[in-house]
This record gives sequence, structure tokens and C-alpha cells, in this order.
Amino acid sequence: MAKKSHEHHDRPHRHHYDAEMLSVEEARERILSYFEVLPVESTDLVDSLGQVLAEDMVASFDIPPLANSAMDGYAVLASDTRGASTDAPVELVVTGVVAAGQLPDHPLEPGTAIRIMTGAPVPENADAVVPFEDTDELERRASGGSSEAIAIHLHAEPHGNVRGAGEDIESGETVLESGQILRAGEIGVIASLGHSTAKVIRRPVVAIVSTGDELLQPGDEPEPGKIFNSNAFSIAAMVKRYGGVPKILGIAKDTIESLTAALEEALDADLVVTSAGVSKGDYDVVKDVLSSKGEIALWSVRMRPAKPLAFGVLDRKDGTKVPHLGLPGNPVSAMVAFEQFGRSAIRLMMGKPEVEKPSVEAIMDDPIRNHDGRRVYARVQVYKDESGAYRAKSTGNQSSGVLSSMSLANGLAICPDHIGMIDAGEIAKVEMLDWPDDIF
Ligand code: AMP
Ligand code: MG
Repeated sequence: MAKKSHEHHDRPHRHHYDAEMLSVEEARERILSYFEVLPVESTDLVDSLGQVLAEDMVASFDIPPLANSAMDGYAVLASDTRGASTDAPVELVVTGVVAAGQLPDHPLEPGTAIRIMTGAPVPENADAVVPFEDTDELERRASGGSSEAIAIHLHAEPHGNVRGAGEDIESGETVLESGQILRAGEIGVIASLGHSTAKVIRRPVVAIVSTGDELLQPGDEPEPGKIFNSNAFSIAAMVKRYGGVPKILGIAKDTIESLTAALEEALDADLVVTSAGVSKGDYDVVKDVLSSKGEIALWSVRMRPAKPLAFGVLDRKDGTKVPHLGLPGNPVSAMVAFEQFGRSAIRLMMGKPEVEKPSVEAIMDDPIRNHDGRRVYARVQVYKDESGAYRAKSTGNQSSGVLSSMSLANGLAICPDHIGMIDAGEIAKVEMLDWPDDIF
């Protein structure tokens, strides 16, 4: 690698930085062409939330394993309750009780009932369960009456309140298929099959390197002229949210040594994200170091914020390559660019289909202006008005350095590339950053 980096330095013509203008979609397509689905691993079930299942799940037994009661009540022979009502109850002898987790210790005899709890196996010969509510259970208990008999107040239907064996899942059935995204329901199903782990596509590790002499790490003492490194944290949070494993590598100074050292540590990740130092006017160290470690292309993406974007690959010592996404330094630009490109890359590596972020059509309370033919992503708060229609209100200063207006936003309202303005009262598509009930 050292040799290679040296070579690159001697051949500056290889540093081709010609900024190309790309649409968001073109930039995304190019970026995604560098990624592959990651290998399969076995993961603790709870940790597999949001991962893609990498095997078919076939049941090797019935669920439930035995016919069992859907209610707390009395297991009976339905025919023994013929004609029963509150006015004309049928009295049955109680011969025992079966709780959930127990097996009945005797079959049901005609003319008798067995007390049974929800989930408990139904005794042999019983074909219905009469819930406590349809017996004199409560009165009997309140009056301290004998528990050796019970009065049934209803004519039970055969199979009433009995859950059949295999009613949920039958032995041999393919319950989940490879490729499914694991949500709470799927995770529950896997647990019900008796597994504590799942075979899933591995989560990508995303190394995050912040560059800039002006940066301090949160937790450090404030210093005049310096700002705290917020990008690493907002990016790490998005990595986590989209299913990746963030690895914050701290701050690289604008020197060859510092950045080289930071990148060394980043190389074993599945994606390296840097922030800042790649826009046109920037001090060349970042670009030089990055190109000496692999390849880098600087693009102009037709979007606002986040026009400058770098993308390339870094060479690992073993000859393999790791994709590198170079986000702009401005905090909102970094976030908006990661939403558009980082999110898709993580989804691809996790084996998930590329899907647009969820969006709504909202009536704008404020205009969105587009000065220069770039797609504008305006920070807005989406809400429902009295008529139930979605409306979107600007969250304030839209400068790419104003992170507070990002924190107030639940969506990014879009003014398309070719439209000069969406006026107040007009409808815009809003890509939702989150939904009101999706706070986690
Ligand atoms: P640059 O891309 O280096 O020109 O940076 C653009 C702006 O983003 C400057 O105001 C930087 O101070 C700011 N910036 C760069 N990196 C970070 C970071 N990690 N956290 C917060 N702000 C940053
Ligand atoms: Mg800088």
C-alpha cells in the first residue's frame, strides 16, 4: 500500500477532480454499483431486527403442539351441554383441573367437566371449553360453594374455544422465506419455532472519519475558533437507524499524517464515510490523501443542500477495496447527502431492496425557491390541518450550516430541479424523515 500511495503521489495527473454535474438518481446509481450484498451470519434473535433472513424457516413440529383451550373455563363434551341456558343450567361433576404447561392426567368422562386454563391442553374426549362467564363459577366462588360441580349456562358448540393442534403453523410448513426482512412478527415466529438465533445478512460496519483543523470532539473543552464535530454523530445515528454499525474514528487534521492514520483504521469497514474537505475550494490534503489510497471522483450533484460529493474506493492491504463516500462538511449537507446515498448503500449491503423514502403530498405553508436548477430539499414540519390534509411548514433558516432547523424537521419538501419555485398553497412531495409515531 505504501508503495502504491507513493506512486500515486508521483503521478498527480491521476487525481482527476473534474466536477461532473449529476442528478441525485445518477449519483445514487453510480454509488450503488460499487456495493455488494454482505455475507450471512448467525445473529441473536433480538439483534436481527431489520436484517434480511438468509434461510427458509421450516417448522419441524405443530404450533400449537396440542389442542388447547382458548379461554379459562371448563373442558366438556359439547353434547353434555345440550339445551343448557342460564334458566336451565346443566350441572356437571368437576373431576380435576389442568393448568397451562401441564398435561391432563385423566380423560374426560361423560357427565363431567375438567377445569382448564387458557393454553392448557384439552383432555382426551373433551371437544369444547365453556368459559367461566357461561357457568356459575363466580357466584359459586363468591358464596363459598362446592367446587365439585359446576352449572353450565350455555349449549357449547363442538370445537368451541378449542384451538386445534397446528392451527397456527403445521409441521413441515415453510413459515418464513429467505429474503424476508425481520420485524417483530417474524422474530416472534422464529422464537416460536424454538430458535434463539437467526441466519441473516450481516450488518455493514461504517467507519466515520471527520476531517478539519477546526473540529473538537464533543466532550472536549470548548476552544476559541473551534466547533464541535457534530457530523460524526448525526451520521452515526443515521447509520444505526438504517441498520448499519457505526464506527466513529474521530477527527483527522488537515495533514497527510493525521488523515492517513485515520484512514488506516477505517479500512476494515464495509463503507468509509468522511465528512468535509472535498469541496472545490478545499485545501488539497484530503483529496490528495484519498486519491493516494485508492481512487476518488468529485461530483457536483444537482441538489441543494449537498452539491459537492466525493465517491471512490480505498485500497486495503490485502488488495480488496472498500467504498468511500465523501460527504460535504456542512452539517445539513452531510445529513441530506447521507439520507440520499448512504441509506441506499446500507440497504443494498443488507440485502434489502432499494425503496424511496416514504413521502406525502403536502400543501406548503411557505414557498420553496429554486435559484439554480438543483433539486431543493427544504426542511419542513409536516402536520395535518383541521380537514385532515397534510401541510408542510418551513422549520426556519435553510442554510446548510443550520442544523437546528434539521432537528425541527420531520420531512424534506422537494422542489424539483426544473421548477423555479413551489409557492405557498401549492403541493410539494415531502420525503419523510420520520413519522409522528415513529419516535424511537
Ligand atoms: P468544508 O467541507 O471543509 O468546507 O466544511 C464546510 C463547513 O462544514 C465548515 O463550516 C466546517 O466548519 C463545517 N464542518 C466540517 N466538518 C464538520 C463536522 N464534522 N461537524 C460540524 N461541522 C463541520
Ligand atoms: Mg474544511
